[in-house]
Amino acid sequence: MRVLRLKPHEDRRLRAGHLWIFANEVDVRRNPLTDFSPGEAVTVCDARGASLGSACVNPASLICARLHSRTPCAELDENLLRQRLTAALRLRERLYIAPWYRLCHGEGDFLPGLVVDRYGDHLTVQISTAGMDRRRPEIEAVLREVLKPVSILWDNELPARTLEGLPLGRVVSGPAPEILEVSENSCHFAVPCLTGQKTGWFYDQRQNRAELARYAADAEVLDVFSYAGGFGVTAAASGARSVSFVDSSAQALNFAARNALANAPHCIAHTICGDAFAVMRQLYNEGRRFQIVSVDPPAFIKRRKDAAKGLAAYRKATALAVRLLVPGGVIASSSCSHHLEAQALRTCLTQATAGRKLHARLLFAGGQGPDHPIHAAMPETSYLKCFIAQLAD
Ligand code: SAH
Repeated sequence: MRVLRLKPHEDRRLRAGHLWIFANEVDVRRNPLTDFSPGEAVTVCDARGASLGSACVNPASLICARLHSRTPCAELDENLLRQRLTAALRLRERLYIAPWYRLCHGEGDFLPGLVVDRYGDHLTVQISTAGMDRRRPEIEAVLREVLKPVSILWDNELPARTLEGLPLGRVVSGPAPEILEVSENSCHFAVPCLTGQKTGWFYDQRQNRAELARYAADAEVLDVFSYAGGFGVTAAASGARSVSFVDSSAQALNFAARNALANAPHCIAHTICGDAFAVMRQLYNEGRRFQIVSVDPPAFIKRRKDAAKGLAAYRKATALAVRLLVPGGVIASSSCSHHLEAQALRTCLTQATAGRKLHARLLFAGGQGPDHPIHAAMPETSYLKCFIAQLAD
């Protein structure tokens, strides 16, 4: 296995537990990155030649290598994939009674660039690095051996792939259904598999949905940015009187309505298709008020440079949501933008409540569920925030 030598002092982050190497940290005079092929496994050494572990290289990417092992000369082969994916599976089996979860969460499961979601017998796989892309046959072999899935959808429509110089596209092996069934928190959801903007389900909010549902008895609920109804349907199944789902996707709303009916036939469900900001303004002007509002927008801050604009959008969304709550009502405010600090989202909430001359009682501060493990040495792997708070006067 060839060696990738770093410049002096550029080993510190790796020694502190991080897995990424940036192109400017490599001693390119000794080993030009262009000498390596995309996805090639190397032993990474510090400037003195001491091993830091094994990584896969991508000369075309700013993050030019990611460690997959702390030992030198470790191939990312079927054996290592089997070991890591089996450990990932054991963790999920301890967490959940049924096979619906994120099975592998990239760096959080020590498999950089590999994400696997499990829907019973069906898997969706996202590969975002050249290292994993090159090992797709081995990944498929191990997934088939360990999980015996009926179908695997390779959902490679990821912007991250473009940064790695990898092609986009979706490929199915096996008979993938058009609609996936998801079992979560005693609810059953139908979600699109092969169509639409998103293939599948946002498992990361599972615990936060259950937390919000604790306040649902007899409530009128507004689920903003609802997708297939994760928050609203869970609340409906816990006794909410009515749920209104808001999303810009008609397809998502069809699924939300269907899921509400299937899980809580006695709850009155409405869908409102449109821009969430405009809809929330309109509901306010019509005098509509709710006991529960969930706001779970798409990432408004995809890159650091969008931070100011994105923060303004979170502030606006939170303020509009808070206006729609009755005093004593409960808000769940979520953000999946890694670049938004938890404290900043919390401040959006306190500014919105102070603006109404109310207080917010923080009931729960959540994040991504444990099937989306955060790599403790990598802040980049933590992204989801969810604050549940009650308004009080
Ligand atoms: N709350 C959902 C996940 C939301 S994902 C759950 O628990 O599963 C974000 C959703 O926001 C997507 O369904 C997308 O269609 C919708 N969306 C994006 N921009 C929007 C906008 N401006 N107005 C309304 N919906 C929007």
